[in-house]
Amino acid sequence: MTDRQQHKLTILRDSFGHTGFRPGQEEVIDAILDGQDVLAIMPTGAGKSLCYQLPALMLDGLTVVISPLISLMKDQVNALTDAGIKAACLNSSLSPAEYAGVIGGAARGDYSLLYIAPERLAGTEIQRFAAAQNIPLVVIDEAHCVSQWGHDFRPSYLQIAEFIGSLKKRPVTAAFTATATSKVKGDILRALKLKEPHTLTTGFDRENLYFGVEKPRDKAAALLEFLSKRKKRSGIVYCSTRKTVDEVWGLLRDRGFPATRYHAGLPDWERRENQDDFQFDRKPIIVATNALGMGIDKSNVSFVIHYNMPKNIESYYQEAGRAGRDGESAECILFYSGADVQINKFLIRNGRDAEDGEERDEALIAHNLELLKEMTFYATGTDCLRSRLLAYFGEKPPAFCGNCSNCLTKFEEADISLEAKKIISCVYRLKQRGRSFGKAMVLDILRGSKNQRILSMGLDTLSTWGIMVDTDARKGRVILDYLVDGGYLVLDGAIYPVLALCAASEKIIRSKEPLIMMVPKEAEPQPSHKKAVALNLPPDDEALFEELRDLRKKLAQEAGGIPAYIIFPDSSLRDMCRKRPVTERMFLEISGVGAVKNEKYGAAFVDLIREHQAETVDIGGGDSAEV
Ligand code: ADP
Ligand code: ZN
Repeated sequence: MTDRQQHKLTILRDSFGHTGFRPGQEEVIDAILDGQDVLAIMPTGAGKSLCYQLPALMLDGLTVVISPLISLMKDQVNALTDAGIKAACLNSSLSPAEYAGVIGGAARGDYSLLYIAPERLAGTEIQRFAAAQNIPLVVIDEAHCVSQWGHDFRPSYLQIAEFIGSLKKRPVTAAFTATATSKVKGDILRALKLKEPHTLTTGFDRENLYFGVEKPRDKAAALLEFLSKRKKRSGIVYCSTRKTVDEVWGLLRDRGFPATRYHAGLPDWERRENQDDFQFDRKPIIVATNALGMGIDKSNVSFVIHYNMPKNIESYYQEAGRAGRDGESAECILFYSGADVQINKFLIRNGRDAEDGEERDEALIAHNLELLKEMTFYATGTDCLRSRLLAYFGEKPPAFCGNCSNCLTKFEEADISLEAKKIISCVYRLKQRGRSFGKAMVLDILRGSKNQRILSMGLDTLSTWGIMVDTDARKGRVILDYLVDGGYLVLDGAIYPVLALCAASEKIIRSKEPLIMMVPKEAEPQPSHKKAVALNLPPDDEALFEELRDLRKKLAQEAGGIPAYIIFPDSSLRDMCRKRPVTERMFLEISGVGAVKNEKYGAAFVDLIREHQAETVDIGGGDSAEV
């Protein structure tokens, strides 16, 4: 291992508490350390922050991060500070004295990272300060804000290139976004003047998210039913208009759900207060329009319901993607009704969206109607929802994922080893007679067809003729396709494709292992929700989880009222439930625990877990292996 590799891993473990990199992270970090510009397109929750925070700790000088939202900045700075990393932010929420204090500190070299709001870049004070600094890296977070084609255009982002140009030495420039359409990408490259950037798009798939579309006759009743099964969970209910937000919020409040609301029609103070109630889990459910946007950086959102269909797949995926950022299973459900299409058409045609006031522009309207069509296909189609979403972002996903409402109603897991053996044997027997055929013919033989061709060639005397007579034709076809796609059989032939054996075919014949695939259901589909059920922890874990949460809350209050998830995200608490660390050394193994966090909180959590273990053992009558 090179020194640099070693160094990266040490920082990853000690400062961030992670044991390994997620896909794409190391590649971005290496490009930055090599002095190359970067354009990284990574989905929400992929771990973009680490990609620049880690190099910031390895580079000499001050890393500047341009970030569009004050709440996001504060969160990041809090989280970094809590992990013992020196960081600060400059934005309009600071008093002049605080502002001067941060600039003074940065000039003295007190910080590794400085977050700046884009609007600040135009200030002469900042420009004078920045021109004198050693700035090895400038990071542009939410870089799609530079594009008018995106949904979060920020004019002040257009000043970034000039700011970078004014620095005494051109820093490495790294742009990050979750938005991947080619128009937006082109805008980012141009407007930020990236120089031959290392461009990377990590997979957009978020495996922990379940996608569902429901067409309830009564949306309100469906929502109440859904929520009543997910008590104590945090989630977002998106509605397309302010009016609907108010109605749905009223309904939930009347039924005693801990819900708050958010839309652009509310006064600033109320929006802030409601967002905080949500963020701090005082009210874990929020009903909102799409105005509730980038500011939401809450890791334990376990469901996102769209009460109305959004305007396009990009918005949908971004909003739905606010679920499950901690990597835990989470649900993204769209409540579809035909009326949603009409409302969206109206909003698009009238040039005024629910929240942002775009100017009327015919080309843009046509473009948006096209995007709406794709969204409607998503909501009404019968193929895998995840594959639709991913295909929109240019990925080639498998045809079914097994964790969306379409897959789960139409497919089931099955051991197909027996069918596979039958099919392969048939190809083998044919070969013995010096024959080879395409897929349709082989299936006909297996299913015992007496068609003219089969009879005239005497194929009904094959030992494999009719051995799959009980298998549904469609199912047989799916299995055969699977064998070919999976390389267990090959398609060969000079004139037309015929099935042929390969090395893998022989393995299947000899193997005693099951061969699992998703096959279409033969019986009537019944809506099931496998993964969603797995959301709940076992009862004892649930009890410990609650205790850990209380402790976390107490520590957050003691630390001056920082949000609890800054101390540890829910995913770390769940990992504690699973691993039950009873020493500080074991505590270091918990995801999200680095040296500083261990030092600060290790003892408190370990004590609590030890106590909990002792109590459960007492009650349970001595499962002593546990302690
Ligand atoms: P993004 O900005 O891409 O939406 P974040 O940077 O907020 O994502 O990271 C999302 C979550 O993933 C955070 O809770 C973070 O601690 C966690 N995370 C990031 N990198 C890793 C890693 N290498 N191993 C484990 N968890 C990670
Ligand atoms: Zn699917």
